[in-house]
Amino acid sequence: MTKQSANIGVIGLAVMGSNLARNLASREGNVVAVYNRSPERTRQLIAEHGSEGDFVPSETIEEFVASLQPPRTAIIMVQAGKGTDAVIDQLAGLFEPGDIIVDGGNADFHDTIRREKAISAKGLNFVGAGISGGEEGALNGPSIMPGGSAEAYKTLGPILASIAAVAEGEPCVTHVGTDGAGHFVKMIHNGIEYADMQLIAEAFDLLRTVGGHEPAQIAEVFQAWNTGDLESYLIEITAEVLKQVDADTGKPFVDVVLDQAGQKGTGVWTVQNALDLGVPVGGIAAAVFARSVSSHPEQRRAVQRTAAARPTPVSPGENFEDAVRAALYASKVVAYAQGFDAIIAAAKEYNWDIDKGAVAKIWRAGCIIRAQFLNRIVEAYERNPDLETLLEDEYFARAVADGVDAWRRIVSVAALSGVPVPGFSAALSYYDSLSVERLPAALIQGQRDFFGAHTYKRIDKDGVFHTMWGAGRNEVRQDGH
Ligand code: NAP
Repeated sequence: MTKQSANIGVIGLAVMGSNLARNLASREGNVVAVYNRSPERTRQLIAEHGSEGDFVPSETIEEFVASLQPPRTAIIMVQAGKGTDAVIDQLAGLFEPGDIIVDGGNADFHDTIRREKAISAKGLNFVGAGISGGEEGALNGPSIMPGGSAEAYKTLGPILASIAAVAEGEPCVTHVGTDGAGHFVKMIHNGIEYADMQLIAEAFDLLRTVGGHEPAQIAEVFQAWNTGDLESYLIEITAEVLKQVDADTGKPFVDVVLDQAGQKGTGVWTVQNALDLGVPVGGIAAAVFARSVSSHPEQRRAVQRTAAARPTPVSPGENFEDAVRAALYASKVVAYAQGFDAIIAAAKEYNWDIDKGAVAKIWRAGCIIRAQFLNRIVEAYERNPDLETLLEDEYFARAVADGVDAWRRIVSVAALSGVPVPGFSAALSYYDSLSVERLPAALIQGQRDFFGAHTYKRIDKDGVFHTMWGAGRNEVRQDGH
């Protein structure tokens, strides 16, 4: 072992940690200390990839810490939850003031806030960094969303910039904000990813069930869409998945896969936290619930046995594919608008100074939602960093207005044809709720006042009012005036 020779360390050498360590070691100037609880993984990494760069392997955590240059900087890539807490405790016992502990796992941002508080009280830095892009991203360039202190970012920033994906010449990493800001933004990224995937899946279903196209033909439609404003990694891989033919049966791959979508939980977290923050993220929630509906085969079978006959799909009409494309684009705009709303609300709640344009920029490469489209969001926040919603930006307002007739047509065609489109319809209802002049919320206020004396405000005068529903139904002002 070379004493204090490494400028960065990685703890946890399962698939993510090994790939990240290899990525770090492949960049000029990095010397990478590596350690894993079970030494076999460390030995395997060095045996298979030791020649790819400058690694300093250790078989004890003490050796690992001794191999790092001050300020010691270590990225933890172990199982989220208890495993991460255990490693943080070990490092905190060995690190010195000014050293930097980075959690690169998929932590709940509340845990990151708690950990940052505990670790910074000891004079150490703690950085929760969201790392997107899965195994491939970790190896070749992820999108990285670090939180923590500005002081820690001075040391860590250039190291992360050396391994991040690059979009239009800029590394996909930015100091998102303090304590849990990075993990929060990573969570929202995943929530948006759920919505994006669900909307694409609904477009596929419509093109097939109403449009009458086979998966291979739909793959071509998606390939064509990937050259326009929908250009994105998810559209690209959708075409690839749809092209795939099952070797066993000769059927389209998509027809032999069980139609029950899995999830690891970050979509659920997004919705739970949005509810806590009071932010309507119905488009994202619809996507999370759609996965959950798909994964209840008993209920699906029960209703399939008892439901009325399925409707015959209606005629797709003219320019059906274009209309589906427009509905997909408009619904996608809503999902991103809702994700950014959640970021804005959380920034207020947790005192984070988040540059929304910078977040959109670092999602342009290295992560699952990477897309051309993110440049439009960057531009929108450049025009006005204080937008109430992305939907009011001139570009997005026009894009949605241009597609809204097609959007309405597609949602109604879907309903008449019995094609479930929870994502498209939740997004359209959200857009209508924001754009209509009066909402039936006034009636809800009346109901609340009737059964619970919850009071209401009027549109024509100041004050808080209650109607004496049981006696005379006269209105009484409730605010002492
Ligand atoms: P993982 O399967 O989540 O975790 C396995 C690693 O954690 C092993 O190195 C294991 O060490 C270590 N570990 C578990 N408990 C430990 C403890 N108490 N003390 C010390 N080490 C402990 O690994 P992964 O899939 O590479 O993911 C690492 C992190 O990245 C996770 O937080 C994950 O959520 C996040 N992430 C994963 C992906 C992905 O695509 N896989 C994408 C983004 C983020 P041993 O070898 O000794 O058991």
